[in-house]
Amino acid sequence: MTQRFGVNKVGELLIRENKSRAFTTGLPQCLVDSRVLAFNVVSGCPVDCHYCKYQTKDTSRADTVHLYTMLGRQVREELASMTRRDCLPQMVLFNTVSESFFGNALANQVAGEVLEALFAAGVYVNLTTKGIMPRSVMEIAARNPHLVTVTVNVASLSESFHRLFEPRVATPEDRFQMIRRLRELGVPVRGRIEPLVPTENDSPKDIESLLARFREVGIRDVVVAYLHYGLDVANRLARRVSRVQTALLGPWYRGPNGETVHLVDKEYRKRKYADFKQIAQKYSMRLLVCACRNADIYSGRCFVMPAPLKSPEKKKLFKE
Ligand code: SF4
Repeated sequence: MTQRFGVNKVGELLIRENKSRAFTTGLPQCLVDSRVLAFNVVSGCPVDCHYCKYQTKDTSRADTVHLYTMLGRQVREELASMTRRDCLPQMVLFNTVSESFFGNALANQVAGEVLEALFAAGVYVNLTTKGIMPRSVMEIAARNPHLVTVTVNVASLSESFHRLFEPRVATPEDRFQMIRRLRELGVPVRGRIEPLVPTENDSPKDIESLLARFREVGIRDVVVAYLHYGLDVANRLARRVSRVQTALLGPWYRGPNGETVHLVDKEYRKRKYADFKQIAQKYSMRLLVCACRNADIYSGRCFVMPAPLKSPEKKKLFKE
């Protein structure tokens, strides 16, 4: 069975029942040694941001997104099996390589069922989104505020940034309204500003107006990170944005010998992060830098953790 995407106009949604496994271990570097699992409602991402490093593989094409309708039941069964084996994850990252809240009613329903199952099992959820959670899902989170943090990513307030790099993402204003509603319901929410792209959205003025907007809707903690410019991402951008744009971006990701590097110059990032932290202080906010994306400068975790995570008990999260 296929359906057209919800609000996202193009592409086909292929409806399936189960995944081979509901959870995966594809985690940010800072969490790989923890009892944490990742979960995504769809395979492939209908939002299809041009800078996305997860959508560079042929298997993750925006025009063929797979939605698994029986994930609620599958998650309940997998969690029951983990409980029997005493290896429940302490935390699940929700939406690690795709966006669930892209305006499709079925995807919203599946996301809600899975969240209910995770909360019923007492598993803490770190949910990151650039989409718009429906009221029904917000209310599920609101019934379990001690078990969830929602992180809402807004990279820029600028319409041109939006058009250029992430044309299918919900508008910043819609995301700020969602934050407001989540907070009114008592759901813990954080902000995220990613990706920062040199000269596109990383001026003090850009950051100050964005932080001020986050603050207006009650956010105190914001995580930031610059664009990670691997070869896959560079090729994807070259296919999708204008030559002028890639010509402007390229030099920021060139090493001393002209080679392409993944990160903007370390000294530049250090300076910028220090400036951004100062701006955040002005608004009584805390600005955290994602250490996984800046391992040459920072260490530690920027996630809200459910409880002190011990170094891994060597119990397997999956059966062999
Ligand atoms: S919403 Fe997230 S996962 Fe989806 S394309 Fe954009 S950056 Fe990638």
